Amino acid sequence: MSTLSEQQLYDLDRKHVWHPYAALNSDAPMFAVDSAQGVRLKLKDGRELIDGMSSWWSTLHGYNHPELNKALVEQSQRMAHVMFGGLTHEPAVKLAKQLVDISPAPLEHVFFSDSGSVAVEVAMKMAIQYWASRGQQRSRFLTFKRGYHGDTFMAMSVCDPVTGMHSLFSDAIQQQLFAEAPRLRIDDIWHDSESSELKQLLHKHHRELAGVIVEPIVQGTGGMFFYHANYLSTLRELCDNYDLPLIFDEIATGLGRTGKLFACEHAALAPDIMCLGKTLSAGYITLAATLCSSNIAMQIQDGPASVFMHGPTFMANPLACAVAGRSIELLHENNWQQQVQSIELALKKGLAPCKTLEAVADVRVLGAIGVVEMKETVDLRRLQPIFVEHGIWLRPFGKLVYCMPPYISTDDDLSKLCNALYLSLEKVYCAS
Ligand SMILES: *Cc1c(COP(=O)(O)O)cnc(C)c1O
Repeated sequence: MSTLSEQQLYDLDRKHVWHPYAALNSDAPMFAVDSAQGVRLKLKDGRELIDGMSSWWSTLHGYNHPELNKALVEQSQRMAHVMFGGLTHEPAVKLAKQLVDISPAPLEHVFFSDSGSVAVEVAMKMAIQYWASRGQQRSRFLTFKRGYHGDTFMAMSVCDPVTGMHSLFSDAIQQQLFAEAPRLRIDDIWHDSESSELKQLLHKHHRELAGVIVEPIVQGTGGMFFYHANYLSTLRELCDNYDLPLIFDEIATGLGRTGKLFACEHAALAPDIMCLGKTLSAGYITLAATLCSSNIAMQIQDGPASVFMHGPTFMANPLACAVAGRSIELLHENNWQQQVQSIELALKKGLAPCKTLEAVADVRVLGAIGVVEMKETVDLRRLQPIFVEHGIWLRPFGKLVYCMPPYISTDDDLSKLCNALYLSLEKVYCAS
């Protein structure tokens, strides 16, 4: 096919292509991207947008990065892919070693898969097989309301029952045990009464549970809420008492986004199983990983199956692993901690004016995540084109207008982003 004109592209897209959580043939605004460089998306009509979304949390070092491109091209000249059954390769082994080295101490073993949702499925399977190997059939999990863990069925079952549309799939998904979502913020004063519901639920139900799964510190897609670390220490203590595997889904938070390399470091504790995705391959190619402790791995090994029952076709894809390995080196070379700290300062300063808008309920920042919570659900169709007119790319959902810029964003990029965000909100909400 020859190059499409802009109009042909939009027409064919409407006719044939699904987009996330969207209707086919929708008349919602759509923008064609021609290329991307650094923190800028270049649209087919020539306009350039400062990216505030990091392509759903994933782009850490910017687009079209020479070092990541090089890792990808060099690996493609050796091999794009080989099966992982009975074969192994340097990109996977190196990456696994890097992940074990940088992650909390008990996590020793790495299972690679294709996407975040699958990494969650794998984590939940590990917990189920952990119990199977101890002669017990357990498959129920405890989680918080307002969580998000992906769109496959087991992952969906631990997403918030309301925003995850459980009613639509009620016959198809497992009924999990939901605790109220954390209410205290990361910087609130802790009250011990906050842990009483978790204690009661686990006291009553621990014998039927295979494990506990939560997003540590940041409830992302379920509300962009930054919660108190003591919820995690409560869960850690209870899971130790009742011998339940504790799973942290660090798919959105892993690799520095919250100001710590892993969000669980805010609570100075480690899970038994941890999921990584999104950020892992720096926004280049889909890749995810599930890490577990030796205790979990050895127990699974002793079980009736003796093997772990999962094996995606594209497991440990060499292209993705090569890019991910180089990306982790870049985190260190670029001093990610300083990058994220300066983004935090810039977002705090840049988003503060939004607090003066009548329509805004709350403004909060943690690491390289900035959130403007509105009082009412935002009108995406109206707001998104206005962001684009102001030269920025943001994709709000529900009441949340939020950004998580790539780590390489400069103070200048960030002040333009925040300023345009403010002006766009002012235009929509203060028009009189
Ligand atoms: C995005 C996300 C997932 C799902 O990852 P996919 O790659 O989209 O399948 C799971 N958990 C969390 C916390 C996420 O943010």
